Amino acid sequence: MDELESLAESAGYKVVAKIEQVKRRPDPKFQIGKGKVKELARLVKEKNAEKIIFDNPLKPVQAYNIAKETGVEAIDRFQLILEIFVRRASTTEAKLQIELARLRYELRRAKEKVRLAKMGEQPGFMGLGAYEVDVYYETIKRQIQTIRRKLQKIREKRKLHRARRHELGFSSISLAGYTNAGKSSLFNVLTRESVPVDNALFTTLSTTTRLIDVFGRKVLLTDTVGFIDRLPLTLIEAFHSTLEETIFSDLILLVVDLSEPLEEIERKLSCCLDTIYKIGASSIPIVTALNKMDLLSKEEIHRKVEALKDLAPNPVVVSALYGINLEGLKHEIRRQLKDYVKVSFSIPISEETMSFISWLHNRTNVYAIKYENEKVNGIFEAVPWFADKVCSKIKNLGGIFDQFSKG
Ligand code: GDP
Ligand code: MG
Repeated sequence: MDELESLAESAGYKVVAKIEQVKRRPDPKFQIGKGKVKELARLVKEKNAEKIIFDNPLKPVQAYNIAKETGVEAIDRFQLILEIFVRRASTTEAKLQIELARLRYELRRAKEKVRLAKMGEQPGFMGLGAYEVDVYYETIKRQIQTIRRKLQKIREKRKLHRARRHELGFSSISLAGYTNAGKSSLFNVLTRESVPVDNALFTTLSTTTRLIDVFGRKVLLTDTVGFIDRLPLTLIEAFHSTLEETIFSDLILLVVDLSEPLEEIERKLSCCLDTIYKIGASSIPIVTALNKMDLLSKEEIHRKVEALKDLAPNPVVVSALYGINLEGLKHEIRRQLKDYVKVSFSIPISEETMSFISWLHNRTNVYAIKYENEKVNGIFEAVPWFADKVCSKIKNLGGIFDQFSKG
């Protein structure tokens, strides 16, 4: 249930109530028992809930009957995970992968859903009653073929080098790890004192990316889709392309729940590392945050860290909830990040130069700007590839520059 709640939050829901029924054979009509449905309907009304999310898979007829009894739509874990992917995907390929997974899921249920909708439409079955059974099925089939063709085309012309997500001079860090490991908690605590950014930059960043300060250096931190246990097979491709676009960064911050049993931690860690390897991100340095240390004794922490030292890359023990050892974590992050390059420059003043300066402010660490004798002199710091890009701009503006790496 905790996992399901974390997933629901990732999909943007606010959980208003939870209800469980233990050890029972699934009821063909409702999945849960008849009495439980009544209880559920009362709870929906009392809490003004707008949707019901099941951990178990729901057959169309079960979703239909529950909607009829409660007045709101019922979805299952599969649909919830799809929604999370939809929210996070931004490249065309990832979006198409997800749409493909959704349509394949819908195809299997299409005929039954139309038949049910003909008995009266319910939340989740709206608009389907007007279809002929076969027409709806064939429509979905055709959509699947169209998407397959589009995906094929994209794969053919995929560039050798991945497009950079941000045209910015800051290093980027992506958070990874299983649901419930504490990624969002760590994201929140690390971004609590996030660097204010102006509108121009803000609009280029997604809602899950913030600019943070790591010992005087600004870096971008992104909360990714995360790994999900019991991921349905049909969603693996969609997951990979959604993860791929977010995880390519200068550093991966892998969050692990240290309070789980050792075998569980090892299983999840191996799975994360395997996936990172599989999508071709193995050259990115990883820092492992061993989270929830507050739940363990000193001895237990020591025992687990010892046992994990060969598996977990650059481990640091932390508590996101209580903000313990964040300094240690930042220290390790700083150690693993490539150094920035410092550049001093001098450009003749012009209108173009002025707009260049404000562009620069939004994309790099600017240390000093001075106006003197019809010239702008300044110093900035950025990741090496971006610094090179800026230097060619400076050249085009008739300026001169001096680059030096900084330890
Ligand atoms: P996510 O799914 O990886 O984003 O995980 P969340 O950040 O949503 O955290 C999942 C649960 O673990 C929440 O109930 C958090 O309050 C809890 N949690 C996160 N970090 C810690 C921690 O350091 N200590 C303890 N005791 N609980 C934590
Ligand atoms: Mg989260």
